[in-house]
Amino acid sequence: MRAPEEPANPSSRPPTLPAEVSAGPADASAEPADASARPARAPAGPARVGVLALQGAFREHRLAFERLGAEVREVRKPAQLDGLDGVVIPGGESTTMAKLMAAYGFDRALPAFHAAGGGVWGTCAGAIAVAFEIDGYPDQPRLALLDLAVARNAYGRQVASFEADLDVLGIPGPFRGVFIRAPRILRVGEGVETLSVYDGDPVAVAQGRSVASVFHPELSGDDRFHALVLARWIGTLQNGVDS
Ligand code: GLN
Repeated sequence: MRAPEEPANPSSRPPTLPAEVSAGPADASAEPADASARPARAPAGPARVGVLALQGAFREHRLAFERLGAEVREVRKPAQLDGLDGVVIPGGESTTMAKLMAAYGFDRALPAFHAAGGGVWGTCAGAIAVAFEIDGYPDQPRLALLDLAVARNAYGRQVASFEADLDVLGIPGPFRGVFIRAPRILRVGEGVETLSVYDGDPVAVAQGRSVASVFHPELSGDDRFHALVLARWIGTLQNGVDS
């Protein structure tokens, strides 16, 4: 099922978006700052976003990107990654998702997509899937796309799920973070930017066109984090921040 290919209505965008983002997150007509490092894509037209739809909270991501005017595809087979600017790995259950990813060939296809310049964003279980290291689970399969070490379910039983107002680099004003049995980011490598910190730990990070967030921006009813990721993927975000 494809989204209607209408451009985003600029008046529906949050007023606090950074200039480049509010100028058109789904409009790829602007020349990227570093075109040579980006995958081939049509010079104009809506951003093309995939949402890995094997398991977990993928529908909410699809709806958020559609509200931003992107063309969104639910990805269930590796061939459906072709031509995408970026793909989201949603929240869910990371061991189940790892098994399904291996069964369908995404354990190879996603690293290949990433190596070819495609953007990847892991949320919650997806952040576990993209990490280099999973503390205490050395044998849990992972894609190893971002230089991070994470600990699963590491916010403790009493506060397994909670919400908190976050400062996010590039988003003026607070952003409501919804944490559901979230992993904790224990370590970030050199070259990984921290976009948001909660309780002393990074909760959103980025490395090139790859992003990981341990909370669920698709559940906050605020599409500004999706807009930031989209800007990163289509090259309208300069130096990680644009305000
Ligand atoms: N605790 C889950 C895991 O390990 C992730 C939870 C989520 O994605 N909301 O895998």
